[in-house]
Amino acid sequence: DRRKLAAGNWKMNGTAAALSEVTALAGSQGEARCEILLCPPATLVERMAREAEGTNIAVGGQDCHAAESGAHTGDISARMLKDAGATYVITGHSERRADHGESDEIVRHKTEAAWAEGLTVIVCVGETLSEREASNTIDIIKGQLAGSIPDQATGHNLVVAYEPVWAIGTGKVPTTDQIGEVHDVIRSQLERRFGPGVGRSVRLLYGGSVKAANAAEIFAVENVDGALVGGASLKADDFGGIIAAL
Ligand code: 13P
Repeated sequence: DRRKLAAGNWKMNGTAAALSEVTALAGSQGEARCEILLCPPATLVERMAREAEGTNIAVGGQDCHAAESGAHTGDISARMLKDAGATYVITGHSERRADHGESDEIVRHKTEAAWAEGLTVIVCVGETLSEREASNTIDIIKGQLAGSIPDQATGHNLVVAYEPVWAIGTGKVPTTDQIGEVHDVIRSQLERRFGPGVGRSVRLLYGGSVKAANAAEIFAVENVDGALVGGASLKADDFGGIIAAL
């Protein structure tokens, strides 16, 4: 009985004016059965958390540093996110892996740091188009899971997001068979490594060009427990349509 999760990743979008989405979403989705999460840019985490107080919307960061504090100009720690009111953080997003050269090992250390602060971590995995075309998808996913997820995973502290890089922001969505295949592999890998109890309780999100129009079809796939949404999470109406499909 995994609780469905609709997670929005705003990426590098949004200033204070965008916080009105929180009120709009809380108003329209107050009765939603699923869990709702928004991950705004770091500058908005604290204000959004205040805005979301008393609503059914949780707030998360998009990344954190592996260290608790120190000489890391421009970075923020898991402790800072927690202090600002976040309860979640995303690690290993493909944009971090690509733009900032984050390896599986770095992602694992960041995830450990976030767990030390009691945050729930959404660890992202996903293949590039060339990896898929070379039939390496499953190996890539298995390698990323093994390398990016620390040993102390539980159904509460871990969420895994499958985001094929070629589907992010492109309008290209894998077939439901392709999504189902990867989600089944992720589920069985988690069960194998952490035991059936933990393995079955970790929620698996699909991400990449999710919209209200394709959400229901994606959510009907076995082992899809929600979505990690980029572009369509920026407007309350669009995101609301996805939440409604859960
Ligand atoms: P889009 O929904 O804009 O394709 O982005 C997906 C994503 O990367 C969420 O983390």
